Amino acid sequence: MQNIKQGSYVTRKILIIEDTPTIARVQKHIALKAGYDVDIAESLAQAKELLSSNAYFCAVVDFILPDAPTGEAVPCTIAAEIPTIVMTGNIDQQTRDTVEKYPIIDYITKENKQAYQYLEKQLLRLPRNENVKVLVVDDSTSTRRYICSLLARHKYQTIEAKDGVEALKMLEASPDITVIITDNEMPNMNGDELCTQIRSLYSNDEKAIIGISGADSSALSSLFLKNGANDYLHKPFNSEEFYCRLSQNVDMLEQIATIKRQANTDYLTNLPNRRYFFEEAEKSLKQIKRTNGNGALAMLDIDHFKSINDTYGHDVGDEVLKGLSICFKKYFKKHLVARLGGEEFAVYFIDVEKQEALKRLEGFRYFIEANSHEFSSAKIKFTISIGFVSGPVYKIDELLKQADLKLYDAKETGRNKVVS
Ligand code: GH3
Ligand code: MG
Ligand code: MG
Ligand code: MG
Repeated sequence: MQNIKQGSYVTRKILIIEDTPTIARVQKHIALKAGYDVDIAESLAQAKELLSSNAYFCAVVDFILPDAPTGEAVPCTIAAEIPTIVMTGNIDQQTRDTVEKYPIIDYITKENKQAYQYLEKQLLRLPRNENVKVLVVDDSTSTRRYICSLLARHKYQTIEAKDGVEALKMLEASPDITVIITDNEMPNMNGDELCTQIRSLYSNDEKAIIGISGADSSALSSLFLKNGANDYLHKPFNSEEFYCRLSQNVDMLEQIATIKRQANTDYLTNLPNRRYFFEEAEKSLKQIKRTNGNGALAMLDIDHFKSINDTYGHDVGDEVLKGLSICFKKYFKKHLVARLGGEEFAVYFIDVEKQEALKRLEGFRYFIEANSHEFSSAKIKFTISIGFVSGPVYKIDELLKQADLKLYDAKETGRNKVVS
């Protein structure tokens, strides 16, 4: 797992403290798969030595070791401020009590069939959490600090607000906040009102809200949920429940983001697809209409692409499409690009004068003419034709229709040219 820190790449290091070689091997395998660099200590003594000369991102600690029969290794990694996952053979009440005394990430019972799957999940989540920003809203400073300390233990980023009004300001200032944990009774604006306000701005799959309250009323959880919260916790809650609900919500946000990304991306070229292009261009045209500005759009099409497929095969055709897409995206970085389908592409220009757009298109046409052979192992040369329109047209399908007519002109009058 690579992490960009202060401009340089660092690999995350994990310390596995485990005296049974077969188990240590499995854990090492899981950690490597999750992207970590791995050190293994077979005893507490060895662990102490490693801890004195290494910085670890996290640790997996066996509860019972030959030189640490009652969990003595756990306070060692905790004292070194290393997020710690404890693996235990059995979880009797005494072990549980000992483990729960320490601010560990989690404990996993080795006998459990899903233990190793669970470990893998935790190891993948920790680095992920570093990129998740959580807003904690509570008028009690001590509660806020407590929740933030729980979050920090699992490496989440935290921001604090003392009431709903302040929370809304912070959401506006930091749009990358994805989870809001909020108390209910607060001065200025209550938690349920804050939920309503947040939901008028962001949908459930953009931001997750978890309501928390100490009030002894079962009506409160439904009040929170009805106002748009994703989840609810009753105070005092145990930290395990807190972490489980939180990570479930973060997982859900992530899954939805992945699905959205996939739905908006062309499978072959990784460019935005037609659907995304239409949605985004439509939004932009609405704004332009308000100021009576001009929409500007170009359609690009590879010349005689069918003959490339026919001569060299479909796979080589794909290679050409991928190579072209990479350059296309870079060349029109500031604008909205898409693969509309087949060998047809489009650029919707953002904030640019007609002459400037035409210059850029002509530059790209020439770039392809001069460099197209670089895109395929078979060094195939090809050219593109471009149709361009700009004007006070505010419907994307109308703009596309007009650009398509210009493209047709380009094809009819010799190809390898820009027609506007
Ligand atoms: P023109 O200069 O008039 O545009 O001629 P053309 O051959 O480029 O245009 P035509 O529309 O006749 O053919 C387009 C070809 O693109 C036909 C189709 O098989 C091919 N094609 C469409 N999608 C893909 C794809 O994903 N991969 C590959 N390799 N070929 C594709
Ligand atoms: Mg052991
Ligand atoms: Mg073509
Ligand atoms: Mg075509």
